[in-house]
Amino acid sequence: MGIPQIVATVLAGAVTITAVVLAVRAVLTITAVIRQGQPDPERFSAKGTRTATMLKEIFGHTRMLKWSAIGAAHWFVMTSFMILFLLVLEAYFEVVSPTGELPLIGHWVVYGFVTEWIGILGLLGILYLVFVRQRSKPGRQNRSRFLGSTMWQAYFVEFVIVGVLICGFLIRGFKVANDTFDFPVWATPLSHGVGSLLPAASDGPTWVALVKLLISMGWLITIALNPTMGVAWHRFLAFFNIFFKRSPEKPAGSGLGALRPMMSGGKPLDFEEADPEKDQFGVAQVEQFSWKGLLDFSTCTECGRCQSQCPAWNTAKPLSPKLLVMSLRDHAYAKAPYLLGGGGKDLTGEERATAAQLAHMDVLALAEADRPLIGTAEENGVIDPDVLWSCTTCGACVEQCPVDIEHVDAIVDMRRYQVLIESSFPSEAGVMLRNLENKGNPWGAPQNTREDWTKGLDFEIKRAGETEDFEYLFWVGCAGAFEDRAKKTTRAVATLLHEAGVDFAILGEGETCTGDPARRIGNEFVFQMLAQQNVETLQEAKVKKIVASCPHCFNTLGNEYEQLGLKVEVVHHTQLLSHLVQQGKLTPVQPIEGDVTYHDPCYLGRHNRVFDAPREVLGQAVGNLVEMPRNQERSFCCGAGGARMWMEEKIGKRINVERTEEALATGAKTIAVGCPFCSTMIGDGVTGKGEQENVEVVDVATVLLRSLKQEV
Ligand code: SF4
Ligand code: SF4
Repeated sequence: MGIPQIVATVLAGAVTITAVVLAVRAVLTITAVIRQGQPDPERFSAKGTRTATMLKEIFGHTRMLKWSAIGAAHWFVMTSFMILFLLVLEAYFEVVSPTGELPLIGHWVVYGFVTEWIGILGLLGILYLVFVRQRSKPGRQNRSRFLGSTMWQAYFVEFVIVGVLICGFLIRGFKVANDTFDFPVWATPLSHGVGSLLPAASDGPTWVALVKLLISMGWLITIALNPTMGVAWHRFLAFFNIFFKRSPEKPAGSGLGALRPMMSGGKPLDFEEADPEKDQFGVAQVEQFSWKGLLDFSTCTECGRCQSQCPAWNTAKPLSPKLLVMSLRDHAYAKAPYLLGGGGKDLTGEERATAAQLAHMDVLALAEADRPLIGTAEENGVIDPDVLWSCTTCGACVEQCPVDIEHVDAIVDMRRYQVLIESSFPSEAGVMLRNLENKGNPWGAPQNTREDWTKGLDFEIKRAGETEDFEYLFWVGCAGAFEDRAKKTTRAVATLLHEAGVDFAILGEGETCTGDPARRIGNEFVFQMLAQQNVETLQEAKVKKIVASCPHCFNTLGNEYEQLGLKVEVVHHTQLLSHLVQQGKLTPVQPIEGDVTYHDPCYLGRHNRVFDAPREVLGQAVGNLVEMPRNQERSFCCGAGGARMWMEEKIGKRINVERTEEALATGAKTIAVGCPFCSTMIGDGVTGKGEQENVEVVDVATVLLRSLKQEV
C-alpha cells in the first residue's frame, strides 16, 4: 500500500464512520417521529398481499410507468442506485489498492456487464430527469408541479447520482488505461471508451474511488442532517409506505373508495359511547394522525404529481396536496423534540409535560408546538382553513402518488375535528348539515315528496318493504328524488330497467341520504346516524343487490356500509345498463347524432375504477365518442365532491368552468355524465358559457334511452 492509498483509506474511513453515525441517528429520529402517531393495527394484516404489492409496485414501477418516459427513466435510476451500491462497496477496495475489486464477484463478467449497462442507462435516466425538472421548473411553467418543492435537495440528489456514475466509469477507465481491467469490450464498452481517452496513472483508480466515496458519504451525511429530505429518504421509506398502505389489494389509489373510519386509540369510534374528553375526535394535533399518516408525510418525494392533478391547485386555490403533506411533515419534525421530551396535550387540552421538562425544552420546538394545526397565517397555523376546505376529495392526488400517500384520509381527519369539536367550517354548509339531520336530505325537501319522480310513468314500481320479491333495489338518491335535472335521469333508469325486464323495487319514502356529504365534510356523527338508519332499512327489506344512479351513493353503499355490517352487491346504473345491452335486453336502434364526450365522475371512475361500463353503453348508443384530454383515472373533478357542492367557491377560477371548457373544446354537442352532481356542475358551466342552446349535458342512461326511443 503506497502513500496515496494510505491517505485515501484514512479519509474514506473517517468520512464513512461520520456518515454512518449520523445516518443511524437520523433513522432513530425518523422512527421516533413516526412512533408518535396513533396505533393503526389493520396495517399489519395480509402480509403476503402487502409484500407482493410492494415488490410489484417498486420493481415493476407500476405507478410511475403511468408517466411513461419519466417512469422508465426513474426505474433505471432506482435500479442503478441499488446495483451501484455494489460499486460503491468496491470503491473501498479500490482506495486500498488501485487494482482492488469486490471479493467473489468482482471478476465475474456478468457483474461487469450488468453494472456497466445499468450505469449507462441510469446515467441517461438521471440526465432525462434533470431535463424534465428544468423544463417544468417554477417560473418556466405556470403552477409547475415543482412549485414549492425544495429544489436544492433535488438538484443535490441529481448531482450525486451523476457524480457517482461518472466516477464509476472513470475508475474503470483508469483500470483500462493501466491494463488492469479484465472485462471484455463487448461487456463494458463505455469503460473501454473512457479508458482509451485516459493516460495510464497507477493511482488513478484510488483517487477517483476516494472522490466517489466522498460524494456518496457526503450524500449520506446531508440526508442524515435533513430527515425531512423526502427526495432522498423515499428511497428507503417508500418500501414501508407501500407495504403498509390501507388497501394492499388495490393496484392504484389505496386511499380511495371508502374513507377510513373515525379512529380513536386504533379502533373505530363508537358514537354511542364516545366521549370527547376520552376519545379522539378527528385530528387537532399532528401526533393525532396514525403512525402511517406520519410515515406518509415522511415519505413524500416532493415530486408534485399530486399537485399537477389537483383541481383546487389547477384553479388557483391555495390547496396543493404536496404542500399540505410537506407542511404536516415539517411541522411534525419541528415539534418532535417537544413530544419526545414528554410534551403534548391530552384530550382536554392539558399539558402533559411537567414545568421542569418544559424548562429544558428547545424553544423552537416549544414555539412549533404552540402553532394551531388549522389556522390562518395571522394565527401561525400549519394548514390554512382555505386549504382544508378547498378539497373536493376527488382522489386525484391519491391516484397519482407514486409512494401511495393517503391525502384524503388526512384531510378528512382534520375536517372531523374542525366540524365536531370546533364547529368551524364554511357557514353555508351548515344548512346542508341541518337538512340532513332534520329532513334526511341535503336540500331539506319533504320526505313525502321522495316518490314524486314516479308520477306519470306508465308502469308500476314495487316498494321494498311491501314485497321481498325483487332482484335489485334501485337506490334513487336525494338528487335523483328531488333535483329536477336528476329526476329525468331517475325516470330514464327506471324506464330502461323496466324495458329490459329487470325485477326491481325502490325504498321510496324509506330512503334517506346515505350520509356521503356529511362524512366528507367531517361530520361523522350525522353520517353514522343516517347510515345506521339506512342499514336497518336495507336489512329489514332483505336487500341483496342494489343499483345506484349516484356515484356517491354507490361508493357509500358499496364501500362504507360494510363498516356498519351491511354486505350487499352494489352496482352503478351504467354497469347494469352495459350488462343489459350486452345481453341484448336493450338494443339501441338509432345512435345519437353528433359527437358525444363523457366526463368520468370521480366517485365512479377514480374511486371505484368504473371506466369501461359507461363507455360501453355510449359505444352502442352514440355515433362518435370523443375523449377529453383528462379522462378515466386522470379525469378532472367537476368541483362538487367532498361536500363542496354546498360550499361557496370564492377563490380562483370555478372548477366546473375549467372542466366545462375542456368538454366544450372537444366540439361535442352532448356531454354525457354518470352522476347527478356532475350533471349540475357541468350543466351550470355550459349555461355560464352561454352554450346551453348548443350543448346538452345528460346522463348516460338518457342517452341510451334516446337511442332506443327518439322522442325522449
Ligand atoms: S382529493 Fe382532489 S381536491 Fe383534494 S387535495 Fe387531492 S387532488 Fe386536490
Ligand atoms: S405525489 Fe406523493 S410523493 Fe409526489 S409530491 Fe404528491 S404526495 Fe409527495
